[in-house]
Amino acid sequence: SEQFTAATSPSAVKVAVAVRPMLEFESLKGATDCLKLKPPHLVTLPPLRGATEEYRFEYDRVYDMVSTSGDDALFGELVAPLVSRVLQGFNATVLAYGQTGSGKTYSMGSTADPQQMNSRSKPYGVIPRALVTLFEGLQQLQPDYEVASKVTFVEIYQDDIRDLLRAPAEAAGGFQPQARMVMGSTEMLPKEKGINIRENSDGTFLDGVKEMPVRSAMDAMSLLQRGNSIRVVGAHNMNERSSRSHVIYTIQLNMRRRNLPRNTGRPTSGPAFLRSKLHLIDLAGSERQKDTGATGQSFSEGIQINKGLLALGNVIAALTEGKGRKHVPYRDSKLTRILQDSLGGNSETLMVACVTPSSLSQEHTLSTLRYASRAR
Ligand code: ADP
Ligand code: MG
Repeated sequence: SEQFTAATSPSAVKVAVAVRPMLEFESLKGATDCLKLKPPHLVTLPPLRGATEEYRFEYDRVYDMVSTSGDDALFGELVAPLVSRVLQGFNATVLAYGQTGSGKTYSMGSTADPQQMNSRSKPYGVIPRALVTLFEGLQQLQPDYEVASKVTFVEIYQDDIRDLLRAPAEAAGGFQPQARMVMGSTEMLPKEKGINIRENSDGTFLDGVKEMPVRSAMDAMSLLQRGNSIRVVGAHNMNERSSRSHVIYTIQLNMRRRNLPRNTGRPTSGPAFLRSKLHLIDLAGSERQKDTGATGQSFSEGIQINKGLLALGNVIAALTEGKGRKHVPYRDSKLTRILQDSLGGNSETLMVACVTPSSLSQEHTLSTLRYASRAR
């Protein structure tokens, strides 16, 4: 493969590989560390099943997430620039991809304590750090712009969109609970009012979804925590569910230039109106349906999840393989339809492919690395 230089890449899609540390349960099962990282671009895996040559992949960046230095580098090199773009009025998307247990949620920092956002210490993970940086940036724009920011938080499960910010009381009062069989046991789920993916001149939006105004990184992080807790309600097996659904946390900005001339010494030019959004997405586990040994209900879940990840892979591949030449198949899944105005065009996308170094997961890791290399 060709040597890749991130600084000169024309592509709006960047791919990073994040390798989590080996976990104790893996060592106890006799796993060895089979993955070799050669920062900043290279990762290799030993040959599998009779192959004689090692697998060698190159990405925009590869990170060892063993300490906070991996998190620092990932944020500083790839996430912070996206946040700056969002503050300039462009859309951006960060996606965490990988098999269940590979560190997607950990790397995204989805479970951080909102109180942490107030402290002096740096929070860990993409989402909390992006929010802190975003609100610092908004603060600096305040003298010139009136800013309104709002959050939406949805889950795509079995190709249904579920609102994670709808108050539990509202969900219980407004809808008839629906019982259904999941993995052989009854799971109660509120029946949702329809959420529809629509487009207008401003872009793609979710009609019928709750939009919550936020004024600080702590506000925004509290909503993430609240949505995550709603997610657990009614889920028979949280791990099962979290491995099978895509979770899309979005912060939208509306900035209007103030009319009053100000004696700030700043030039008074600049766009009158800026609108942008940042999607932060924890994707469903990338393991194939055949690996779950599932049947019945979960079989169709497996198909739906493959559909979203498959469509995403195709969309990203179409975007990175030659400009305008190819049809970009956004319409193939709800996931890609929602992201239509935030993948490609003027938007920037970061895929964080998460892997474990464990030799016991080598097969999965290879498939994650292949998917991720197709994305660039
Ligand atoms: P996923 O969301 O992909 O299923 P998780 O983020 O839940 O995976 O991570 C799986 C396990 O690995 C968790 O126990 C998590 O605490 C641990 N883990 C993931 N990344 C790291 C890391 N960088 N450092 C330490 N532990 C990690
Ligand atoms: Mg997870």
